[in-house]
Amino acid sequence: MIAELIAVGTELLLGNVANTDAQMVSEGLSTLGITVHHHTVVGDNPQRLTEALETARKRADIIITTGGLGPTYDDLTKQTICRAFGREMELHQDILEEIRSWFETKMGKAMPENNIQQAMLPVGCTVFANPVGTAPGCAFQEGGVHVLMLPGPPFECQYMFEHQAAPYLERLTDGVIVSHEIRIFGMGESAVEEALREPMTQLTNPTLAPYAKTNECMVRATAKAATREAAEDLLRPLVEQVKGILGDVVYGVDVDSLEAVVSALLRERGLTLSAAESCTGGLIAKRMTDLPGASKVFRGGVVSYTNGVKAGVLGVPDALLEQYGAVSEPVARAMAEGCRRACGSDLAVSVTGVAGPDKDDWGNEVGTVYIALASREGTLCKRLSCGRGRGRGRVRTSAAHNAFDIIRRTLLGLPL
Ligand code: ATP
Ligand code: MG
Repeated sequence: MIAELIAVGTELLLGNVANTDAQMVSEGLSTLGITVHHHTVVGDNPQRLTEALETARKRADIIITTGGLGPTYDDLTKQTICRAFGREMELHQDILEEIRSWFETKMGKAMPENNIQQAMLPVGCTVFANPVGTAPGCAFQEGGVHVLMLPGPPFECQYMFEHQAAPYLERLTDGVIVSHEIRIFGMGESAVEEALREPMTQLTNPTLAPYAKTNECMVRATAKAATREAAEDLLRPLVEQVKGILGDVVYGVDVDSLEAVVSALLRERGLTLSAAESCTGGLIAKRMTDLPGASKVFRGGVVSYTNGVKAGVLGVPDALLEQYGAVSEPVARAMAEGCRRACGSDLAVSVTGVAGPDKDDWGNEVGTVYIALASREGTLCKRLSCGRGRGRGRVRTSAAHNAFDIIRRTLLGLPL
């Protein structure tokens, strides 16, 4: 099945808002095994929306719109779609009551008159309830094309996609689609593609598709079968094959992130971590503490941005800072060891590097990063070149990613 997305909203065309709904819906469709050939953005303009619908219905089996379901005069998606597809609209009394009670209980006020409009839906449609907002979505089929309407606010759009649209779409395809995400750090997307060329080009079910993500990449294995068990049977050997080919750059399957894997490993082993961060400025601590239950494994950290803090708080000897400079192996090691002492953790990671835009006073290139890891067994240190040529932000996020990978590899006894 081929789907096409139409995002409705003048603010998207003006560049005030990024079309994140399209990204989210597209990603959701790909996990359902539904192919997307086109994204369109139109303003709040009935004529141009009609044109976009006429084009889409000729080339897609599924049309999904986002936005324009609200109560204001510029919210015209439903009316325009109904006109284009020759559907009447009717008032859904039960929906109206839901919206009315949403206003009374959640907003503590009476429902404004113009919200009645939101309970007007195409005759014979499937209603997508919206417990996280007011505008309900809906879906209907006309002339072999399924049209789905989702609200614009990203949280509502995502909620409705997951809880209503995805199950609706799943029912359209016979059988189930199951996919697994194989997460990779330390190998670029093109190298992954190269390594997996054979299974990728030969397979039709299950399939393998690579995706680039910031600082890492991912391969999604997807299978379609009559039952979930049958799909899993198809996927199991493929996932194992991919892990066998790629080796220890695979850090997890269906996991949330590298730091989540690190956190789980620490917890399994009953170990705690702390972080001394210079160029990452607290990113490691931030990412650890984003995880629920972080306090079990993360004791804290120091943003030791200046030499004064490196020496004063972490106890890095002034002599080391003077002799080797802040971006150096001896300083990285001393930062990790000092942090481990100060925080009383089993492990302490340190990061010191040049985020840019310019080289440091010692001639270190932008992207030069030292990462050290101190533990009871001793301290190791690695010099890396992180995110060069991609700006300050990427040097920092790449350094944090590398730090997590060094911790993962150390905990698993893998080579660095
Ligand atoms: P509402 O009931 O809030 O009016 P709606 O379905 O009518 O919802 P819009 O009025 O089109 O949606 O958009 C509401 C807000 O949602 C916009 O101000 C915008 O910030 C955000 N939004 C709309 N479309 C998108 C999109 N495609 N991607 C990301 N954000 C979006
Ligand atoms: Mg609106």
